[in-house]
Amino acid sequence: MPQPHLPSAPSGVENQLRKHYFLERYVIIAPKRGLRPDSFNRHDAAHKVPGQECHLCADNHEKALYQHPASGKWQVKVVVNKYPALSLDNPEAYGRHELIIETPDHDREFSELSHTEQLNVFAAYRHRLNALSAIEGIRYVQIWKNDGPLAGASVAHAHSQILALPLIPPTVEAESTALDRYRSIHGSCAVCDLSSWEEDQGVRVIYSDKHLLVIAPYAATAPFGAWLIPRRHEGNFSNLTAGELDSIATALGKLAARLDASSMSFNWFLVNSLAHEDHHFVLKVEPRDTTWGGAELGTGIIINPVPPEYAALWYKGKV
Ligand SMILES: [Zn+2]
Ligand SMILES: [Zn+2]
Repeated sequence: MPQPHLPSAPSGVENQLRKHYFLERYVIIAPKRGLRPDSFNRHDAAHKVPGQECHLCADNHEKALYQHPASGKWQVKVVVNKYPALSLDNPEAYGRHELIIETPDHDREFSELSHTEQLNVFAAYRHRLNALSAIEGIRYVQIWKNDGPLAGASVAHAHSQILALPLIPPTVEAESTALDRYRSIHGSCAVCDLSSWEEDQGVRVIYSDKHLLVIAPYAATAPFGAWLIPRRHEGNFSNLTAGELDSIATALGKLAARLDASSMSFNWFLVNSLAHEDHHFVLKVEPRDTTWGGAELGTGIIINPVPPEYAALWYKGKV
């Protein structure tokens, strides 16, 4: 499908002002001179948040909202966040804030879990998405992971978090509106279109199989940012097939292993379609090793020192 509105393939290493595929959002790709694979490995000592007592370890006795296996020794356990940002009994900050403990073992990262254990984490994601979306007054459920101190992880123990919100976050709403606008102009899904465009270009593809495409997005705001996009047009993580989840676990495990090995803090988060919309699910990974300065805060235009083309090579172990 021709995409005349999408920019042409990049060349060389000159700085480039790039626009997001379908949002009015800009980034300046400004390759650092002498960029090397280890340029970002600055946090060896700090990747694991140093030792306070951990309440997520195997002896966690808090009431499980979900656990797997259902009885006996758990591998995945979901509990209410000890310090919830929102709670169902607070009308001033209504919602739910939960924690998904991905393993009982304090020292194992998601990337070190077995494939089956990773899928069990996804099963917990799905269970909570469905359960929380059904609660009266909840309008959006966000699941994300903080890995490493620069990504907001206050405990080192591998976990994800969920916020069930009484509103649709403006960022999500804006993206949804932009996707609708794109469809009304082009008659197609922007995410389906950008996937085929990126696959044709090839230079930013990190991983692909029959279910999944993983790219370093053209106008990545985060150095080494990556999007995991199911090939099938599906809006909700909960509706992905077993094969699609297999592919996501495989790819996410590889990406996380690469980032962990370089001691990079990162977040990932699910971008689900709004309940009444027919958009396209994306899982976004955003490493957090750069700090925004005044340019970013003042203009919203991010300066990214790592070209996505370089990031793709890095994830594939080619640089
Ligand atoms: Zn622990
Ligand atoms: Zn689509």
